[in-house]
Amino acid sequence: MLQEIFASPVEDKIFYAVLVFSWTVYIWEAYLACRQRKIYRTTMHVPTELGKIMDSETFEKSRLYQLDKSNFGFWSGLYSEAEGTLILLLGGIPFLWKVSGILTARFGFGPEYEISQSLVFLMLATLFSAFTGLPWSLYNTFVIEEKHGFNQQILVTIYADYIAPLFDKFTPLPDGELKSEIESMSKSICFPLTKIYVVEGSKRSSHSNAYFYGFFKNKRIVLFDTLLEDYSPLNKPGEKEPGTGEENEVAGNESKTKPKNKKQGCSNPEVLAVLGHELGHWKLGHTVKNIVISQMNSFLCFFLFAVLIGRKELFVAFGFHDTQPTLIGLMIIFQFIFSPYNELLSFCLTVLSRRFEFQADAFARNMGRSSELYSALIKLNKDNLGFPVADWLFSMWHYSHPPLLERLRALTGPKQD
Ligand SMILES: [Zn+2]
Repeated sequence: MLQEIFASPVEDKIFYAVLVFSWTVYIWEAYLACRQRKIYRTTMHVPTELGKIMDSETFEKSRLYQLDKSNFGFWSGLYSEAEGTLILLLGGIPFLWKVSGILTARFGFGPEYEISQSLVFLMLATLFSAFTGLPWSLYNTFVIEEKHGFNQQILVTIYADYIAPLFDKFTPLPDGELKSEIESMSKSICFPLTKIYVVEGSKRSSHSNAYFYGFFKNKRIVLFDTLLEDYSPLNKPGEKEPGTGEENEVAGNESKTKPKNKKQGCSNPEVLAVLGHELGHWKLGHTVKNIVISQMNSFLCFFLFAVLIGRKELFVAFGFHDTQPTLIGLMIIFQFIFSPYNELLSFCLTVLSRRFEFQADAFARNMGRSSELYSALIKLNKDNLGFPVADWLFSMWHYSHPPLLERLRALTGPKQD
């Protein structure tokens, strides 16, 4: 068998290399998922760092949910890998292309209308994948998520991430202690701050709490009001008593049925620590580096695509012996030929992004704001912890943003620059 492959024409080699690579990635990720499942099965207690913000009931609920999801992911992943392999081996792509040709010819478009044949092909392929994927997603929605009562949260997240920001209202941060402290911190690291805004929108997920934007010497900082303890759209003067821990209902928090009786936002020093992290991204050039990398990547992809699209053997490898449709070329090159490059790139980007996050945390730490950042991170993440423990290898491969626990441990661990 192997000898046959080595003696085979280049088209066959391309074809089998694609298959082998795809299975290699599949097996690697299945191995990682297996490691992570072991964590779900064996981690029975809330990590001590999170003892104050996560009760054992929530922890157990989330653990069982993740375990079910991961087991389901194993079967659905195996199915889709096997399906993809069968499609390739049985020549599903050229077959579907041929069917699309027959259909378009029915409507009076000959083979010279490649664009209409491509459209029909896309439609058929979408229908096919929807049809074969439907049972899996139905099972996921109606059995797993129903059982654990988690599906509503997805809708809330979508709302918070995509819909709510459309209605964001920006107001300048009023003069006061926080404003002057932010200004002096910016000055200390030469950050060209021009304005500070607060977004009013209490119903958002806590993915993002502060960011900056603007070009060159004209930067603005935006803080979400959910970050700020002392800020409320209904500004009630005289009620500001930072650090007393008194039971304070924050406006706009009515959606939760059980009463929330903890202060939501961060104290001023904590806000500054969070900003220290964000400004660290700026000072260390992370934003610029990300832009440069993504530009270089798109340039490289277009260049390689232009070189490869003319290679007949790529088409022959996937069963296209006498035609070279552009759509099929796009599919072969971006989906199959580039897949090793894409895997490598996405791994490097994940590693880099994690590094940037740890560096930004270390930046805030070097400003002497380590303990404030620690408590701020805990406050800001307590509502979206999910299952907080991850296998290190699984986390390194999948999480471009290190999980809370890893950040907390890095903050208290030995300093590294
Ligand atoms: Zn960051």
